[in-house]
Amino acid sequence: SIFAGLGLATELTRAVAGEGYTEPTPIQARAIPEILKGHDLLAAAQTGTGKTAAFTLPLLQRLHTTGSKPARKQVRALVLVPTRELAAQVQESVRTYGRHLPHMRTVLIFGGVGITPQIQQLSQGAEIVVATPGRLLDHVGQRTVDLSQVETLILDEADRMLDMGFIHDIRRVIALLPKQRQNLLFSATFSPDIRKLAEGLLHQPVTIDI
Ligand code: AMP
Repeated sequence: SIFAGLGLATELTRAVAGEGYTEPTPIQARAIPEILKGHDLLAAAQTGTGKTAAFTLPLLQRLHTTGSKPARKQVRALVLVPTRELAAQVQESVRTYGRHLPHMRTVLIFGGVGITPQIQQLSQGAEIVVATPGRLLDHVGQRTVDLSQVETLILDEADRMLDMGFIHDIRRVIALLPKQRQNLLFSATFSPDIRKLAEGLLHQPVTIDI
């Protein structure tokens, strides 16, 4: 398939075919091979462009192929999002595209609800955490999340996160992560603030502006 030509494994191309996708969207065609190679990415992408699959598919493949299977599930990927709705959408994508891979646990972290169920879920371990920045820092403060093993950081709808005033929280989260990691930044717009964030965060990024 065309998806296989992007470098995706059979388990993932089967899941994509199961969704009825016949060809990658432009952002997927550009981003997937670069993410699989381990590059940092700066991508301009609106909702509806297929951006969630553009990062979820290669993320799942990398987690699957580079996993060493530690005794306890460690947080290896952190996805920062502006809202609870977007967090749920990312989790749904992980479930959909990962259905033919060994199960990856995803925990959602967002504010406005009780923290105790999230603490309980985190205590069971998860490879992927999808979080809004403020509540994630609450967990960091309570030592209920360990970010020391994060290999991939994804900022989804970064411009919305900045609009919502999350920039300081985002910077505090980034400071807690291992230096050696892959960074993917998705934003509908490339404002000066986004460029400044990208400059400090991304290492020789591939830029995609469709
Ligand atoms: P997103 O931009 O990530 O919010 O995705 C928008 C919608 O496009 C979602 O409902 C996806 O299921 C769908 N989608 C993603 N990739 C493809 C594709 N290659 N072909 C058809 N639909 C897709």
